[in-house]
Amino acid sequence: MKRPNFYAAGGLDRVGPLRKDPDWLKTRLAAETSRFVPIWRAQHLVRDSGAGPEPILLDLGAATPFILGGVEPLLLGLDGEIAHFALDLSAEDAPLEQLGLAGAVPEEGPRFQDLRAFGPLLPQRTGSLLAYARGLAHWHSRHRFCGVCGSPTIGAEAGHVRICISPECKTHHFPRTDPAVIMLVTDGDRMLLGRQAVWMKGMYSTLAGFVEPGESLEEAVAREVKEEAGIEVEDAVYHSSQPWPFPSSIMLGFYATAKSRDIRLNDKELEDARWFSRDWVRAHVDDEFFRLPRKDSISRRLIEDWLGQG
Ligand SMILES: [Zn+2]
Repeated sequence: MKRPNFYAAGGLDRVGPLRKDPDWLKTRLAAETSRFVPIWRAQHLVRDSGAGPEPILLDLGAATPFILGGVEPLLLGLDGEIAHFALDLSAEDAPLEQLGLAGAVPEEGPRFQDLRAFGPLLPQRTGSLLAYARGLAHWHSRHRFCGVCGSPTIGAEAGHVRICISPECKTHHFPRTDPAVIMLVTDGDRMLLGRQAVWMKGMYSTLAGFVEPGESLEEAVAREVKEEAGIEVEDAVYHSSQPWPFPSSIMLGFYATAKSRDIRLNDKELEDARWFSRDWVRAHVDDEFFRLPRKDSISRRLIEDWLGQG
């Protein structure tokens, strides 16, 4: 089996059937062993340890005042016998002070920080736990009202469904993940990479885009490559996937073979796209003028696996 991508393989048991059992949930919410992943405005609580960034999880005592104040604990799952929940503290103005963690040196001490800034430095399981918590909390924050009738919704089943409170409607809304295809297009010993104007200078990456309604993944691959680079492709072959909760995607990685060669930036989403040979990329990877995408991304994985094949 292939090595899982970063932010996957967190190893939690998601206990699908158990999370519907209110008594089981009550016991876990009262257990001293339970741990809570605090999230504040899409950021995680972290501090520096000697070995790098270290996420801070709350114990029951620290979490209880927030839960009593109306924050809904969102069950992530069991790590062995230890239940893990996400707690979205976004409604609080100063959560660090409430937790007694406000320090004099905010850059070094406990602080809320975006996972994108420190995710790649975490162990895989920890990165996956934080990504899962962030994705689930984001979904709740964007589904406070029913998309059918506009009434408020309330969370149920430990945070894995939101139910419309209107007695006539009662629609159940389930957490959503947006599928996006990401593909390395190759032409013999060359690969097609592009860059957006807002990216770091010199960085090139694989092409990507969201799957549209009524479209297969293979069709989405072909359409996006045509729109962004004017290249026709065939043989879209699945490689692997990656949860990417920034804010709510699952990246579906493919290799595709080019049928045409001339690049045209049709939809202007890219500032530039080019063919790069294996040898050139190997010689220039991460030098001063050319950069590949970040190491925790599936785009980097697709590129490195392909470089390793030739
Ligand atoms: Zn409704």
